[in-house]
Amino acid sequence: MRTAYIGMGGNLASWAGAPEATLAAATLRLESLGRVASRSSLYSTAPVGFAAQPRFMNAAVALETGLEPQELLDGLLAIEQEFGRERPADFANGPRTLDLDILLFGELEISSPELVVPHPRLAERAFALTPLNEIAPQAFVPGQGQTVAELLDRLLENTSRGESAAVVRIESSVWDNWKERGF
Ligand code: ADP
Ligand code: MG
Repeated sequence: MRTAYIGMGGNLASWAGAPEATLAAATLRLESLGRVASRSSLYSTAPVGFAAQPRFMNAAVALETGLEPQELLDGLLAIEQEFGRERPADFANGPRTLDLDILLFGELEISSPELVVPHPRLAERAFALTPLNEIAPQAFVPGQGQTVAELLDRLLENTSRGESAAVVRIESSVWDNWKERGF
């Protein structure tokens, strides 16, 4: 068994409801791939790359799993599909119902055409590092030689005050009660 940290995000409604409901429902689906050992709070974050779209909801989940990395990725892509994820070929960073990324997979380093772990843009993404830091501050990020907490400190030091306000923790009963909705 290893612990994978999954970054979740979305900014369009799905059949489950608003993005916070999608993330709650997707967390239930993650239990088909392993055991959800911990979850971060929910964050409202400013879109990165393409600004003219709704704000995102982001969170991070620790998943204890016996799956191999490629099997986990295939499972995550299937869950994205279930929530209506569309992937226009020419539209990186565009709006989406659900994005599930493998941020860390134990201390494995993977570099294949389909899968790069740790996630290649983790160190520059406050919307991924902030929730991850809540559940795994001491996790070691191979390749960076630093922990999650150290990477987040370094990123925030290099970020202006206005930008750091782009990641805001929010209260959500839908997110808190993810097991009780029965999606
Ligand atoms: P992004 O998350 O960067 O916006 P997508 O969600 O559309 O992009 O993912 C595109 C592809 O990225 C996936 O089909 C997957 O093969 C690949 N990928 C590479 N590394 C990872 C990772 N660590 N987690 C998730 N997907 C990854
Ligand atoms: Mg993705």
